[in-house]
Amino acid sequence: MTAIPRSCDVLVIGGGPAGSSAATHLAQAGIDTVLLERAEFPRNQVGESLIPHIWKFTDLTGVSDKIEREGFLAKAGGITVWNDKIHQILFSDFGYTRPGLHVERDIFDDILLRHAGDCGARIFTEVAVKKADFGDSDRPEIIYTDKRGRGNSDGAIRCRYLIDASGHSSFLASQFKVRQTISTQMNFLSLWGYFKNSRFVGVDRRSHPQEALARVKPVTFVMSFEDGWLWHIMLRDKTSVGLIVPTERTKGMDRRQREVFFKQTCARLPHLSALLEPAEFIEGSLQFRPDYSYYSQRICGENFYCIGDAAAFVDPIFSHGVQNALYNAAAATLAIKESLKNGKNRLRYSRLCESRMQQFYGFSRALSLGDFGCNGVDAGLVKNLIKSLPPLELELLLVAAEMTNRSDNVHRLAREAGVLEKFEEKFSGRNAERIESLEF
Ligand SMILES: Cc1cc2nc3c(=O)[nH]c(=O)nc-3n(C[C@H](O)[C@H](O)[C@H](O)COP(=O)(O)OP(=O)(O)OC[C@H]3O[C@@H](n4cnc5c(N)ncnc54)[C@H](O)[C@@H]3O)c2cc1C
Repeated sequence: MTAIPRSCDVLVIGGGPAGSSAATHLAQAGIDTVLLERAEFPRNQVGESLIPHIWKFTDLTGVSDKIEREGFLAKAGGITVWNDKIHQILFSDFGYTRPGLHVERDIFDDILLRHAGDCGARIFTEVAVKKADFGDSDRPEIIYTDKRGRGNSDGAIRCRYLIDASGHSSFLASQFKVRQTISTQMNFLSLWGYFKNSRFVGVDRRSHPQEALARVKPVTFVMSFEDGWLWHIMLRDKTSVGLIVPTERTKGMDRRQREVFFKQTCARLPHLSALLEPAEFIEGSLQFRPDYSYYSQRICGENFYCIGDAAAFVDPIFSHGVQNALYNAAAATLAIKESLKNGKNRLRYSRLCESRMQQFYGFSRALSLGDFGCNGVDAGLVKNLIKSLPPLELELLLVAAEMTNRSDNVHRLAREAGVLEKFEEKFSGRNAERIESLEF
């Protein structure tokens, strides 16, 4: 068993997409990087629908070939049924030449983590970080429990910079007590599980049996119902189905009752029930996450950076999570690389990074919250980001927001930033297509 070193330049907590990409960027720059991940990999993770934006980040870290070689399902776009209105969006209409993906996250995340190791980062799985002691020293001391083999021993490692990529447990934000839950109106619970042999929604708007995956590209299927929404994401040999419902709907239920609620809801909803008609639930696959929308007031400091879900998370309706994680990894590691070259400016770099990342998270929140309001969003920061986004990327997001009832905030901010009119004049032809009915 390889010993965990006593010190390093950068310590990364967590080996999800944020942590492994950050470790890759740093190791590729020759920076001594150690990553501690508490789970044994591959480990399960939710969030299987990836938008084509991810490629620009995976190209940067040089992992795109490995992802392509795995042969994940390529998706052409999405179909939403929202308040009974049906829309379809195709990435190719917005100039994307590479597809979105439906990935098994255990495999996808494992590819990214192994790549970080191949690039020279020292990776230790089954090692859980317990505490970050910033003390008076310039080098924070990170206390961990090493659970490898049969051991359960505590250890410590010092680093010059700490990256918290611990996902929704938000390790540092919890330690600093700066984690804020997003308003009570966004008090949602997500329940998801997996089915074998489901039908899927194809790019041709019809439903197909699983065998047709060889000839018809799938789309991500999203539908609203009562006060919640659902996803249906076809994977290579199973299907991910998730329900987002107000937390109070399952209040007081134990695990078994939640599973009954999940199965009954799936069986009664139009479209979804037709897709699942021949399918079989994979027993034991139900998972849930309550009150999952939150943000942190402070995500960067002189010697720490919180990235990915460790910094913030909001309703996953636009499949943003993984690309945010990859973006943050690129931004934070740029700041760290510059700080290592020029330590006197490290506070300035961390502030620049904080503002850039809050801009990005703010945009995600504005996009996803829609008529839930702009909770915790710095409108000025978001407007600046809107002005600087590549036009087609912004347009895709504006159109995607319109497919649901979540467009209020982004449209207002885009109008105030002076870009909405430009889009309406110039690109009014490029919309999500309205469909009359689906042939299921
Ligand atoms: C219901 C739901 C649906 C979603 N759907 C999508 C989707 O379709 N598309 C999309 O792009 N995103 C989606 N997301 C979001 C996506 O899952 C996350 O944004 C993404 O996984 C964030 O990556 P990360 O690296 O920040 O965190 P994670 O993937 O959560 O990785 C964090 C890692 O840190 C490790 N860790 C935690 N604490 C410690 C510790 N103390 N010590 C050591 N290691 C630790 C964990 O074991 C984990 O491996 C969804 C999220 C939810 C809740």
